[in-house]
Amino acid sequence: MPGSSLFISSFSFPFISTLSLQPFACINQTPVLNRQTAATGVDLFVVGQNDHSAFLHAWPGSAFQERGKNMKIIFLGTNGWYDTGMGNTICTLVRSEAFDLVLDAGNGFYKLDRFINDTNTRPLYLFLTHFHLDHIIGLHTLNKFSFPQGLVICGPEGSKELLAQFVNRPFTAAISALPYPVEILELPDCLSKLPFPVEALTLNHPVPTLGYRISLDGRVISYCSDTGYCENAVILSRSADLLISECAYRAGQSSDAWPHLNPEGAARIAAEAGVKRLVLTHFDARLYTVSAFRDESEAVARKIFPQTSAARDDLEIDL
Ligand SMILES: [Zn+2]
Ligand SMILES: [Zn+2]
Repeated sequence: MPGSSLFISSFSFPFISTLSLQPFACINQTPVLNRQTAATGVDLFVVGQNDHSAFLHAWPGSAFQERGKNMKIIFLGTNGWYDTGMGNTICTLVRSEAFDLVLDAGNGFYKLDRFINDTNTRPLYLFLTHFHLDHIIGLHTLNKFSFPQGLVICGPEGSKELLAQFVNRPFTAAISALPYPVEILELPDCLSKLPFPVEALTLNHPVPTLGYRISLDGRVISYCSDTGYCENAVILSRSADLLISECAYRAGQSSDAWPHLNPEGAARIAAEAGVKRLVLTHFDARLYTVSAFRDESEAVARKIFPQTSAARDDLEIDL
């Protein structure tokens, strides 16, 4: 609808998955303007606001996202904290027709070249939620890959400085020494540089942590790890096709001092947000010592939200 204006509050409209590509404006920390002022001359606005952040994001409204044919979600690592015989620490690959997205870089990250190799030139984006080691430890394998398409790493504020320290000598090869270009985008400030719509909101975790809502190929994926139950997880997940949620605790377990989700909490977010499907991942290595415990959490979550699956390493699902 070129030339027209449409204002959408991201809290209340579930059809956000149909939004178009190519953001062209991003005004961070800007209070929500009134409808007439905000939308003047712009086809579409998406507004998110909460206690921690406010942002305004717009995309040209002329081309609605078409639903692409193939999208695969591949769980490369599904543990929280450390590796065990149950799996590697967390890493998830989202393969669409046009892009490869990697969600966090735990030890499962080393498996990426099973799927992405020299012949694949789809643009590659890595979204880091926070800098606990189980989400970044796999970055020391960056120098085993040859990504001719380059790599864009997206993460919370401070990512450039932290990555310059961690992906560097003496820990591993420096980013500047990698055989491909790497760009680092700090979110939400750089949301406008992404070629598809993404929302990033703060989650409930002891260190700065972002949850993501990614619109790609006509689908919406919400990724929330690590976090305790919070309103922002529900906001990010509203009517999503898929919520990938952490499930560090087992049923009935919780801690205000160290917020994480149990299966009931993850299912509650899925139900309140009205998602189509929930996949649990990031199972605490110390608490989930056998596969049956994941089954048990899947069953507990299904009582609240029936379309729930518990991930395992190497699980692939079609979306
Ligand atoms: Zn974690
Ligand atoms: Zn964490």
